[in-house]
Amino acid sequence: VTKTDLQLFAAAASFAAQQHRRQRRSDKAKTPYINHPLTVANILANEAGVEDVHVLCAALLHDTIEDTDATFEQLVALFGPEIAGIVQEVTDDTSLPTAERKQKQIDSAAKKSGSAKFVKIADKTANLRDLVAIPPHNWGAERLIGYANWSKQVIAPMRGINPKLEAIFDQAFADIENAYIKS
Ligand code: ZN
Repeated sequence: VTKTDLQLFAAAASFAAQQHRRQRRSDKAKTPYINHPLTVANILANEAGVEDVHVLCAALLHDTIEDTDATFEQLVALFGPEIAGIVQEVTDDTSLPTAERKQKQIDSAAKKSGSAKFVKIADKTANLRDLVAIPPHNWGAERLIGYANWSKQVIAPMRGINPKLEAIFDQAFADIENAYIKS
């Protein structure tokens, strides 16, 4: 049975909530992890004006392969190859050391599909906003700024696909500078 776009979106939200149910963000309040993918989908839909259901569902699911026991094959079976493919594209190889993973995000950015770029820019935007609103409890200003600068490097090769989304990212970056770099 073919699902409507809304049915697919609800199923993806429910699956992501189930997969992330025991995870929390590392801020003081231990915000439920699911807030993050919901925010990424909302940024795309309601701030950047993205209407492609595959992109929006992939946003909801974007951390399920990397951070939970969900597999690519499972996502293909549940949501189809297009959504699963976008999620796969934004999934880091967690067997690599952190520094290598972070470099790989920069190096692979230009080669990603447009859909994956949308999810990635919104993901980084949501993370930057969280660094101001609900910063990780044990991060100092230097680490927060380092993360922001790295995010900007990842985004750089993806520019040119959606000016609105890029402006939203740039605003989140400026907010970090205002919050943590006192002049
Ligand atoms: Zn994410």
